[in-house]
Amino acid sequence: MTAPQPKPWIMEIAPYVPGRSTTDDGRKVAKLSSNENPLGTSAKARAAFDGADRSLERYPDAGAAELREALAAKHGLDPARIIYGTGSDEVLHLAAGAFAGPGDEIIFVRYGFAVYEIAARRVGATPVVAPDTDYATDVDAILAAVTDRTRVVFVANPNNPTGTFTPREEIARLHANLPKSVLLVLDHAYSEYLTRQEDDHGLKLACDQPNVLVTRTFSKIYGLAAERIGWGYASADIIGAMHRIRAPFNVTTAGQQAAIAALGDDDFTDASREHNRKWLGWFTEQVESLGNAGLRAVPSKANFLLVLFEGEVSAETAYKALMDKGYITRWLPGQGLGNGLRISIGTEDEVRGVAAALREIVTG
Ligand code: PMP
Repeated sequence: MTAPQPKPWIMEIAPYVPGRSTTDDGRKVAKLSSNENPLGTSAKARAAFDGADRSLERYPDAGAAELREALAAKHGLDPARIIYGTGSDEVLHLAAGAFAGPGDEIIFVRYGFAVYEIAARRVGATPVVAPDTDYATDVDAILAAVTDRTRVVFVANPNNPTGTFTPREEIARLHANLPKSVLLVLDHAYSEYLTRQEDDHGLKLACDQPNVLVTRTFSKIYGLAAERIGWGYASADIIGAMHRIRAPFNVTTAGQQAAIAALGDDDFTDASREHNRKWLGWFTEQVESLGNAGLRAVPSKANFLLVLFEGEVSAETAYKALMDKGYITRWLPGQGLGNGLRISIGTEDEVRGVAAALREIVTG
């Protein structure tokens, strides 16, 4: 052996493929591939970012104290039980890294977020895929997959890339039937798009239960994807273990300042939620009206819609045709979704435009 050899489980990782922002010929087109906020960023967050401490030679606050205080005040939490990450991606990796390793199993649903499998394999754990029921999370299937090697279960709610929502009773039933030694990670990257009532169950569980971690992000409704800030809430013991393997200084100074200001701008998040409610509903109806041409909309509560192609025009054909017409969507054959396109809810013009383009492609 002449060169360093990566661990065999690392070579089993299929690299994460991000949503594209340009076409092959470099044209800039409407980017409906990464579930970003079409209304941009809160003006208050932008002002805080612009006005943030510019001492570029200084490390950021390693403890993110002000950010944790602001999150705790907003959600009624204990700041000592909050962890933060370079995106919630990092928080998911920390959960896998602190609680699983070689010989252990990590469960997630088929058509789940791609990072779960990477996070499992990265630490040498075995990814276990639980089947869905018509694209939705199936609690019984997850419970059936549990063995005495299970250490972590990842459930996104709403789920990505399907957009499906699992009601609180089902999440409670999942938790009640999992062994207490299993960490249940409730990934709430899209939970701000839910109504407040639908959204509050995860953090409540994490407050009360010793084996629940909720992860959330500033990348979606808060419109701060560029700054890479996520966070998590769990028991002090779980958070303490995750901090031990967290990279020091993992959230930038300007990012922390912008995130704190974003938490104080309910007008922006309310407007973003309302925009999404309106145009997700409208777009879903448009897709459903193309049922005769083989299109199906998977019911979504997130800021995107999974469109299934069950007629003559394939998802791949539609993906390329949409690209030609100026809309980048997400085709996910690598995740077993060769028959679907995930389309983010954009601005009104973008949503109307992509709906008209789809109609032309499948009926044309
Ligand atoms: N969880 C889910 C379900 C997601 O879709 C995403 C973003 N694609 C993330 C977590 C991670 O987002 P971020 O790292 O930007 O917080």
